[in-house]
Amino acid sequence: SLSIGIVGLPNVGKSSLFTALTKKGGLAANYPFATIDPNVGIVAVPDARLDALAAIDHPAKIVPATVEFVDIAGLVAGASQGEGLGNKFLANIRETDAICEVVRFFSDPNVEHVAHKVDPRSDVDTIKTELILADLGTLERAIPRLEKEARRDKAGAFKLEVAKKVAEGLNEGHRARTLGLSVEEAAAVKDLCLLTMKPMMYIANVDEGSVNVELPEIDGQRPVPISAKIEADLSELDAEDAQMFMEELGIEEGGLARLIRAAYGLLGLQSYFTSGETETRAWTIPVGAKAPQAAGVIHSDFERGFIKAETASFDDYVSLGGEAGCRAAGRLRQEGKDYVVQDGDVMHFKFNV
Ligand code: GDP
Repeated sequence: SLSIGIVGLPNVGKSSLFTALTKKGGLAANYPFATIDPNVGIVAVPDARLDALAAIDHPAKIVPATVEFVDIAGLVAGASQGEGLGNKFLANIRETDAICEVVRFFSDPNVEHVAHKVDPRSDVDTIKTELILADLGTLERAIPRLEKEARRDKAGAFKLEVAKKVAEGLNEGHRARTLGLSVEEAAAVKDLCLLTMKPMMYIANVDEGSVNVELPEIDGQRPVPISAKIEADLSELDAEDAQMFMEELGIEEGGLARLIRAAYGLLGLQSYFTSGETETRAWTIPVGAKAPQAAGVIHSDFERGFIKAETASFDDYVSLGGEAGCRAAGRLRQEGKDYVVQDGDVMHFKFNV
């Protein structure tokens, strides 16, 4: 499943938020380094369309898409130099698909701020600098080896050239992802697992009254406003009470749904469905994926032996009462290998074994 690393300065509300979103129970204490061990929580991607499909097919089970959150221990200025939690922290984010930074916007004077003032921009800069320094360290260690490879062949020489170019950009204070590398260049340094090459998103942990406030952009992106406090309260309630509480607060969508929507947008992901009597299930694919690639998410055999995909739009599937209804109404399409899957498509693959 999609994996997102949660980072941020100490005391910004990472653990509180992580705990609320994953409802796992954990430690949130009012001092830096409360979260020393990375915690992994798997959450179901909230999607009301699954329930609508299940109401038609009455499947034995409903299987939502999942996202894995990795709660990573606090980062302080100097982490890349081995201060704070340093390298252990860095190893854990290397494996994630994206990095989500929690930024403190809430003002509660009872909660100590590591830099002694609430200043989102400065906090974001601190983390950015740490990630850049960590990548410079990675490059510095890799370059002697890359120089050897460069003497061996052209591919090695290219890799060294790109590594040097990236180091130059990092030294100027830019993240690797924003250097405008070509597809070939990015591929050449992929195995270095640079942290600043990962897509980055921001959660603003706001005061309880500010969840609907539109925030200014940070680093070219609008942060997703979430109140860790509200999420913590919501996580204690059953679904019905939570809904009522959200209505009282004027919140349309829970923090998890908002966060995942933003992550899907950032990463260019969407969902399609399979549905029948055994299960109704959501699958995550890149926007623009063609039918065989979508089938391959279920099983590589489906991709290899792909013949066609019987496809209905979500709206047709629901309004026409499922696959049989769509077929009768001529709304069940036979799509081939060049079909670009649309968000919400309900698909049934035919393949050779
Ligand atoms: P972490 O170090 O980033 O993981 O931060 P924690 O989740 O441990 O939170 C640090 C402190 O801030 C705890 O005392 C939390 O109760 C408090 N806190 C977290 N989120 C909020 C919030 O949204 N509002 C307020 N007032 N306090 C919060």
